[in-house]
Amino acid sequence: MNRKLIIVAALSAAFTGGCETVDTTKSGAVGVERHQRMAVSSEEVNAGAQKAYAQMMAEAQKKNALDRDAAQVARVKNVVSRLVPQTTTFRPDAGKWPWEVHVISIEEVNAWCMPAGKMAVYTGLINKLQITDDELAAVMGHEIAHALREHSREQISQQMGTQAAIGIAGALFGIGELGQGVGNMVADVTLNKPKSRTHEVEADRIGVELAARAGYDPRAAVALWEKMQKLGGGQPPQFLSTHPSHESRIADLKTYSERVLPLYQAAKGSAAAGK
Ligand SMILES: [Zn+2]
Repeated sequence: MNRKLIIVAALSAAFTGGCETVDTTKSGAVGVERHQRMAVSSEEVNAGAQKAYAQMMAEAQKKNALDRDAAQVARVKNVVSRLVPQTTTFRPDAGKWPWEVHVISIEEVNAWCMPAGKMAVYTGLINKLQITDDELAAVMGHEIAHALREHSREQISQQMGTQAAIGIAGALFGIGELGQGVGNMVADVTLNKPKSRTHEVEADRIGVELAARAGYDPRAAVALWEKMQKLGGGQPPQFLSTHPSHESRIADLKTYSERVLPLYQAAKGSAAAGK
């Protein structure tokens, strides 16, 4: 076997051998159940996310755009700190994730959660939508759900399928390269790449359950998406380009927010009793 063929064989083995089928979350009251094919480990993706996140926050700090308004930061942190404990309903290990959130001064309607719980909320989301706490919980519940389901890892796995094919072809021609680092890929899929309809539906459903369990009105998700779409005008919010809406979203959100309403009422009841 010549050298190029050995490289091709090694690349093929690395790809096909590394593929596994997983269930990232439990189904919860909303019943999200779908097996996922992963070609890269959570450890690699999470390490990449940590690195990319640290770099981005350092960059924001340098531009004096990190956590400028103490009251706004406190508000965001309060909502997130109520949502995070609810994640263990879907996956017990999430209780030990290094959750972190920062408010970035960018007048763009956007928020995201990288793998393993590294979040950002842009000031444009708060200001342009005049967002309520219930709506903020809807956005962050949705973002956290993407992280719990490891949708970025799944997207990277799909990309790697294409990249490995490129790599194999490249090796044949003597230019074999598996491509960019995992950190860049994580940041790219989380911040820039549109999510599939399947991913959006899962994040919507898990998101309303997280919000309800945290004592936020899950029906706010409906109001939020309506607000987001109205804001459109000439330039639709950045958030909608990475979280494409679909015609049945509002109907689906109505159904699922009603389903988790008892969880919201129970959470509110126990919060009142605790006071
Ligand atoms: Zn989404």
